[in-house]
Amino acid sequence: MALQVEKSRITNPIDFDRAGRQAGYLRAPLSRNTSGWGVVEIPIISIKNGSGPTVLLTGGIHGDEYEGPIAISYLARSLDPAKVQGRVIMIPAYNIPAVLNDTRLSPVDNRDMNRCFPGNAKGTFSEMLAHFLDGHILPLVDVSVDMHTAGHSFDSALSTNMHYLPDADMRRKTMDAASAFGAPYNTVFWGVDEGATFTSCVERRGAISLGTELGGWGRVNVEGVRIGRRGAENVLKHFNVIEGSPETVQRDGSRGTRHMMVRDNACYSFAPSAGLFEPTNVVGDAVKAGQPAGWIHFVEDVDRDPVQIDYRSDGVLWMSAGPGRISRGDAVAVVMSDYEDALAAG
Ligand SMILES: [Zn+2]
Repeated sequence: MALQVEKSRITNPIDFDRAGRQAGYLRAPLSRNTSGWGVVEIPIISIKNGSGPTVLLTGGIHGDEYEGPIAISYLARSLDPAKVQGRVIMIPAYNIPAVLNDTRLSPVDNRDMNRCFPGNAKGTFSEMLAHFLDGHILPLVDVSVDMHTAGHSFDSALSTNMHYLPDADMRRKTMDAASAFGAPYNTVFWGVDEGATFTSCVERRGAISLGTELGGWGRVNVEGVRIGRRGAENVLKHFNVIEGSPETVQRDGSRGTRHMMVRDNACYSFAPSAGLFEPTNVVGDAVKAGQPAGWIHFVEDVDRDPVQIDYRSDGVLWMSAGPGRISRGDAVAVVMSDYEDALAAG
């Protein structure tokens, strides 16, 4: 039985059942001082042909993460409908007020949209966007690739990511999709605050959910764009939506994706006080528990020694602090270790 979905206040110009290429704007109402009946326009592209699965590509759910929006826009401009078997729905910059504002949070309601799912049709602007994506797009979708970077918070090793899924079949299918995407790493993780994320909605609806972390610092990572563009096409190839085999040669000439996991709290190192953070490593470096992750400096004080922060587990540096000036309680390093199914399940 189909679930009853509350009507959205967002208008949608796309007929998802129609074959061919359609491009236009979702229009989300936003009453403002200068335009009581104003809308926010969100680009959306749908390409459908023949029969096959539906793949959803989303970017810009956080506004300061640019590699995904660029990669999806390239694909949206170039994908030939005649070469598609199935349907590809592309929303390159969904949280467009945040994308245009260069911020993680929406400038409209100051919310992190990726903590607003499954949303609320009558809620705040971010909740309304979340509700439309969950209630009106996801029911069509077999595979979701939601492209993120670490924004201003961190730099990230170029990676896909997924939750640890208790269902072994879905776990295997998702890891296979990650291998096809072909980032240098795929990180299986147990999130800190995951109930209200988009990924959790995709999983609840039984679709395959893949995320990415393709850079950070609010800049555009050259290799992140390359991996993102290639990964989007690789996923379409993997699910036979377009012809061809995934191409996974990495920048260093190696081939394929290293599967990793972030299993517990010991993977994170937090700042015990505010200050200027000097990291010791770049993302992708091998690190060991007990080694310094970096030092917090207090340049406003004469002769005050820096405070050392240590790694708490062995592995590869996945995330490294983005801003130089950090606050007490900020995570400054996240370490991933090689994925082991038996260990993960435990
Ligand atoms: Zn993000």
